[in-house]
Amino acid sequence: MNSYAARVLDDLKARNGWESEFLQAVAEVFESLSEVLDSDSSYEEAGILERIVEPERVIEFRVPWRDDQNKPRVNRGYRVQFNSAIGPYKGGLRFAPNVTLSTMKFLGFEQIFKNSLTGLPMGGGKGGADFDPTGKSQYEVERFCQSFMTELCRHIGADTDVPAGDLGVGAREIGYMFGQYKRCRNIFEGVLTGKGQTWGGSIMRPEATGFGVIYFVREMLKHIGQDIEGKRIAISGFGNVAWGVVKKATELGAKVVTLSGPDGYILDEDGFNDEKIDYMLTMRASGRNKVQDYADKFHVPFYAGKRPWEVACDVAIPAALQNELNEDNAKDLIKGGCKMVCEAANMPCTPEAINAFIANKIVYAPGKAANAGGVATSGLEMTQNSIRLRWTKEEVDAKLLGIMQGIHHSCLEAAAKYGHPGNYMVGANVAGFLKVATAMKEQGHC
Ligand code: GLU
Repeated sequence: MNSYAARVLDDLKARNGWESEFLQAVAEVFESLSEVLDSDSSYEEAGILERIVEPERVIEFRVPWRDDQNKPRVNRGYRVQFNSAIGPYKGGLRFAPNVTLSTMKFLGFEQIFKNSLTGLPMGGGKGGADFDPTGKSQYEVERFCQSFMTELCRHIGADTDVPAGDLGVGAREIGYMFGQYKRCRNIFEGVLTGKGQTWGGSIMRPEATGFGVIYFVREMLKHIGQDIEGKRIAISGFGNVAWGVVKKATELGAKVVTLSGPDGYILDEDGFNDEKIDYMLTMRASGRNKVQDYADKFHVPFYAGKRPWEVACDVAIPAALQNELNEDNAKDLIKGGCKMVCEAANMPCTPEAINAFIANKIVYAPGKAANAGGVATSGLEMTQNSIRLRWTKEEVDAKLLGIMQGIHHSCLEAAAKYGHPGNYMVGANVAGFLKVATAMKEQGHC
């Protein structure tokens, strides 16, 4: 690692030692920036790294609500407004029991570079709460969202900070939060993305992350002279991102054979059809968080407590959680003949797993490049809200495809320029960083 980057990282470790996910995300980016920093001292002179690891603002707040038994409950809410050098803060809200400030900071940090890669004017932010939606009634979720937004509404706005969904936050939660924002602020504006289709939401936003991932996979395959048709794909998760991945992969003639949940994974050798794809939505809406339901319904094998990476595949797409795929899983994939790993979740592969892929010449794409289609389409929703127009499915899809092809090109170009041809991780980190760092230099020491 470049000595300036190493110094800033050591200092960060000394001060934020317990924020392990955040430190992992920073270390990966800094590692990738070696040649950039070695060849140009202006980043150090402008103190870019010290500034870029420090969120511009962190908001932490109490979220009091009552459950269906009228019992008082309290959760912890967050919004990390990380970097606004190239646009208003933009990034999702995650509701999950394991959310901590470290989770929010790692996701917010990743979002800076992801948003930059889209080419759209969006800064980086992330938020959420340690609220567990599993088993909660619709009314509990509604009351929680209203309480959460009662505080958050004073910190966000269409030109300040535009949250969206993430794990545990889908169209229903965005609806409850938008309604509360409107009551509190008396403004109808594009303050959240992933909105409903009749009140400002962009067509295709629900599918966009998964579709974008498959567009990216197709570009990577094209680059090595291959086609997506006929490819056997193993994926994890069964939420919104996995749904979009399965839908587009199936449409393009690939065969997805797995899904996973906290309870284990299912193996469906026949691949997916419309009925099975729609059933993923039913499973998600049930709030049970159990992928075994799929196995029971379609009579396919279910492997309790196991990960899908032991299944032979051509392409693996982790679409669930950070650090869900470790070195042992990576070895299993390599043994099973996997040739390409494309991250649909944020930071799902551990650094050891990534090293194993690179050492074994597996084509590996980081989430900040491959899953940027979701936030990119959020950016398109913001544009439609600003100009008070609604684009057709064909218009949005064409723009999304163009953006994913643009990211693929930027990654390869930056990787080649800085001495790591074909390395999508270095390429994504460098290309994402250069745009933000240039803006920060031009805007002075702020
Ligand atoms: N949560 C998504 C992500 O990780 C989408 C964010 C957005 O649309 O603002 O990129």
